[in-house]
Amino acid sequence: MSGNSLYLDGVSVVFDGFQALNNLSLVVEPGELRAIIGPNGAGKTTMMDVITGKTRPTKGTVRFGESDLTRMDEASIAMLGIGRKFQKPTVFDALTVFENLELALKAPRGPIPCLRWRLNGEARTAIERTLAEIGLTERARDRAGLLSHGQRQWLEIGMLLMQDPQLLLVDEPVAGMTDHETELTATLLRGIAGARSVVVVEHDLEFVRALGHRVTVLHEGSVLSEGSIDHVQNDQRVIEVYLGR
Ligand code: ADP
Repeated sequence: MSGNSLYLDGVSVVFDGFQALNNLSLVVEPGELRAIIGPNGAGKTTMMDVITGKTRPTKGTVRFGESDLTRMDEASIAMLGIGRKFQKPTVFDALTVFENLELALKAPRGPIPCLRWRLNGEARTAIERTLAEIGLTERARDRAGLLSHGQRQWLEIGMLLMQDPQLLLVDEPVAGMTDHETELTATLLRGIAGARSVVVVEHDLEFVRALGHRVTVLHEGSVLSEGSIDHVQNDQRVIEVYLGR
């Protein structure tokens, strides 16, 4: 598989004397679907912020292929094809599902501005392919405001896909979803990975199991355990952290 690996090498972040990340090293290979789990305060959000340039490491380096992201600003990192989906969906409720994807396709990578343009056949095909991928073909003409919570999350993932990311960072995608929506989201993310890398921060361990790929457990800003979900769930250090024993 071609594409870039993501490397975090000895990354530390200190906020006012508080060590949010502590010598964190991690590699995500091209096409991987990596789940990041860990108790509250483990450093998951800070890790995502460091990758996207929202937070600068105090120490260590972040690389994506040959590009050193450590001192890059957020817009330049987004331009490299690193997309991020925050927990709260940011779709345009007054536009249809199709129009939301159209807007995302035409926008430069990064924050999505509002603009009008004419669709050519190639663009229409790309939108239709994404609609099928996110399971919203039947809803293309509906306003996004009419979608369920889960469908809005998928639409936002679709909007990120329109920008052809190489690496997609996804923050707690299944919070507030029904069991059925959670299952569909696992299927969606499994389908998206492969052609690009996906890093998912999530608390729901059944969902992480359904993703079926490698899991990294963070604790106190470092990697506590890494491997399959069965491996990390049976790791004594993980059990101690989660159960306090
Ligand atoms: P997680 O996402 O795993 O819950 P976070 O990365 O949000 O963990 O936070 C790690 C630790 O860093 C927490 O204890 C949090 O209070 C602290 N922290 C995060 N951001 C800041 C900040 N901007 N200033 C001070 N402390 C912060």
